[in-house]
Amino acid sequence: MKNAVLLLSGGLDSATCGAIARQEGFTLYALTVDYGQRHHFELEAARRLARALAVREHRIVTVDLAQFGGSALTGEIDVPKDRAGHEIEAEIPVTYVPARNTVLLALALAYAETLGAADVFLGVNAVDYSGYPDCRPQFIEAFAGLANLATKAGVEGRAKYTIHAPLVQLTKAEIIRRGLALGVDYSLTHTCYDPDPTGKPCGRCDACTLRRKGFAEAGARDPLGGWEGTHWFLPCESPRFSDRSREKVF
Ligand SMILES: [Zn+2]
Repeated sequence: MKNAVLLLSGGLDSATCGAIARQEGFTLYALTVDYGQRHHFELEAARRLARALAVREHRIVTVDLAQFGGSALTGEIDVPKDRAGHEIEAEIPVTYVPARNTVLLALALAYAETLGAADVFLGVNAVDYSGYPDCRPQFIEAFAGLANLATKAGVEGRAKYTIHAPLVQLTKAEIIRRGLALGVDYSLTHTCYDPDPTGKPCGRCDACTLRRKGFAEAGARDPLGGWEGTHWFLPCESPRFSDRSREKVF
């Protein structure tokens, strides 16, 4: 079996990505980065998922991007709530963490080279997402090129690095259906940007909105539930939320 590094955030996408990597026969080495998130629930979810995915090793590395701030996910900026689909996609939101996926992939590459692995799995998604530039296929391709230029194993021809982003062109509903078919237990995941002190999802941030829409469209029940009493709504139709968005050129 080939070894692969899985970037495991604790969210729905990275859980599904891990299940796909396992199905493809990889032995997984999970990497979770504590980058100064507003809350610790994601890290706890990552630990649960690492066990569920039976990874060979789970590394949690701290790189405190909150020192720089500049994001609602690490700084003092409020997390946007109650936004419709067209608002979520109107501009890159304040929940964008500057250069996060570049930092995460750089760490995953270092881990992979050390292990002698040439494969990295990342659960980014460019369809039902919040407009982050480092979730696009072009970014993934560019990073793969960099990986082969930047490493000893790449330059010496001992490794041809592949950055696997199997969810990149799937809708959230398609991701959920795929995960359920692979037996992913979504009750182990955490999605919300701004949960209450017990970890209960707010039901109102962009991440909760996209998750709820995904489960609804997949015809599945979200095992996290707990949306009672929150102001739920379905996002407005927009190109990114329809199948046409697959053809969208970023
Ligand atoms: Zn939320």
